[in-house]
Amino acid sequence: MQSMAATLPLTALRTAFGERLREQHPLARYTSARLGGAADALVLARSADELATSAQALWDLELPFIVLGGGSNVLVSDAGVRQVVLLNQANQVVFDDQGVWAESGAGLGVIARQAAAKGLGGLAWAAGIPGSLGGAVTGNAGAHGSDTAAVLELADILHCTQGRQTWTAEQMAYGYRTSWFKAHPGQAVVLAARLRLNPMPEAEIRSAMESFNAYRRLTQPPGASMGSMFKNPPGDSAGRLIEAAGLKGLQQGQAQISPLHANFFLNRGGARAEDVYALIQQARQAVKDQSGVELQLEVELIGDWE
Ligand SMILES: Cc1cc2nc3c(=O)[nH]c(=O)nc-3n(C[C@H](O)[C@H](O)[C@H](O)COP(=O)(O)OP(=O)(O)OC[C@H]3O[C@@H](n4cnc5c(N)ncnc54)[C@H](O)[C@@H]3O)c2cc1C
Repeated sequence: MQSMAATLPLTALRTAFGERLREQHPLARYTSARLGGAADALVLARSADELATSAQALWDLELPFIVLGGGSNVLVSDAGVRQVVLLNQANQVVFDDQGVWAESGAGLGVIARQAAAKGLGGLAWAAGIPGSLGGAVTGNAGAHGSDTAAVLELADILHCTQGRQTWTAEQMAYGYRTSWFKAHPGQAVVLAARLRLNPMPEAEIRSAMESFNAYRRLTQPPGASMGSMFKNPPGDSAGRLIEAAGLKGLQQGQAQISPLHANFFLNRGGARAEDVYALIQQARQAVKDQSGVELQLEVELIGDWE
């Protein structure tokens, strides 16, 4: 496939981003599944302000872009990404006695563990979730009966036409693993967020975290993956449906539907994104044939899938 790199205005990108621009930059290392091709252009953002000015510069250049946080909820195509990738490395975190404010590239699990050490409860559920705060805020990440919507107080947003704004959880239009952002791709960026926490004995928080982590170790496979591939349909679980369709353990190249949890698709080392995609198609079809349920992807397909 011919690269569209030539169609990106590289001179303008070099002028706008200088040493923060990487050309033909491999993306696999920025993803939890450790696979996928290169970005024609990748821009590093090391602070919320840099993230904001970079996003604004790309909108001004009328160049569509993708924000990449921890890369733990995306499947990057082997053919790579023709859009600009804005890599969010803004990770400042500031606690007070009622919560935490953090830049959106900060790790959610890191924030959760720091909160525990400070005797601030409310985030024990998040300790085992990889990825950035921005990814959690846009995808309403959640586990163990709680989610981001339950703790988000305010989010600092940059909107493509309305500029910098502060949004409440209500304005985020949260649902199960979804938000306003999922319905309006490319229209706004989460710069930072404030989470509401409450003082609690550290030992109590750590004990909750340990039992959540023990449950995770028992029910979810280790290794390179994207977490849950499909959303759970109402009243059921995607893993149960894929298992019932007989696909647990199915392998394609070096990609495999986990023998432990059928909603986890693993890169067993050297897998290609197209192998994972083939498993996605097989799982969808088999579940539809077996149960009549149309599984919806939780993971986002990024890049060139032609
Ligand atoms: C082993 C494993 C376990 C997991 N367990 C869970 C779990 O228990 N619960 C759960 O909910 N998820 C889970 N996940 C999925 C994933 O960790 C979460 O969805 C996480 O919140 C994604 O964050 P990220 O920074 O990696 O997002 P990315 O994968 O980088 O991006 C995902 C999407 O969010 C957008 N985005 C990211 N940051 C921003 C921003 N600042 N502004 C605007 N858009 C942005 C991206 O453009 C993309 O569309 C798991 C994943 C793995 C690999």
